Amino acid sequence: MPDIHAKLSASGSDRWMHCPGSVVLEEYFEDEGSEYASEGTQAHAIAETRMRARLDPTPQNVRNAEYAEETTDAEMWAFTGQYEDYCSQIIDGMQLQGRIVRAYVEQRVQFNDWVPDGFGTVDFCAVGGDDLHIVDFKYGKGVKVSAKNNSQMRDYALGFLQEFALIYDNLKTVTMHIVQPRINNVSSETLTVEELLEWAEKELKPKAKVAYNNTREYAAGKHCKFCKAKAVCKARANSILGRIADILIPF
Ligand code: SF4
Repeated sequence: MPDIHAKLSASGSDRWMHCPGSVVLEEYFEDEGSEYASEGTQAHAIAETRMRARLDPTPQNVRNAEYAEETTDAEMWAFTGQYEDYCSQIIDGMQLQGRIVRAYVEQRVQFNDWVPDGFGTVDFCAVGGDDLHIVDFKYGKGVKVSAKNNSQMRDYALGFLQEFALIYDNLKTVTMHIVQPRINNVSSETLTVEELLEWAEKELKPKAKVAYNNTREYAAGKHCKFCKAKAVCKARANSILGRIADILIPF
């Protein structure tokens, strides 16, 4: 589910890490929502219901999943099923290695050790031995999302480490997965916990500090794509005009 109330959201971290000024500028614009966003919300709710029934098949959870199947169109049911299968395979794989696995669905986490007021919700997490897996379900099909160098996924992984620090103090690796079934995209990245923490201290924390302090530093780039201020942003307009000028006047 989207972490809509965080000033520095995990989902917006690629933007605010590149363009810290966007945090202030975006505040002038309402989150208008869209047909795609509501479709994504619905798909996440179905996926959650299915995973709860799979992990904990109480009569109520099974009834909820049956009701979801009856009331969901075949396409969404099939795609949420692919996500469910992927998460289940992670569990099965670790169990086959003889590990005791604990799994979590829609887990709320805080990563405010690195990002002021940072929190979010992880779609699925599983721990087996010293391995942590984090899965994010993407129902969109407009943009192919990679798990490599994905700051949103890293924020979630950090959130899990912070939230469960007292329970899992032995974790050594974190694998972050994106499951985007409508375009047949599955992507993952594995980091050691040490590598993740180093990135968090050296990259995330200092950039979050600048972005949180209402700076007016702007930097346009690919991250502008989902910025709410892009239609009125001078930095983006200048960047586009500069590129056009380079093409028209190459010398
Ligand atoms: S449009 Fe781009 S440059 Fe402008 S505020 Fe948004 S992210 Fe920054």
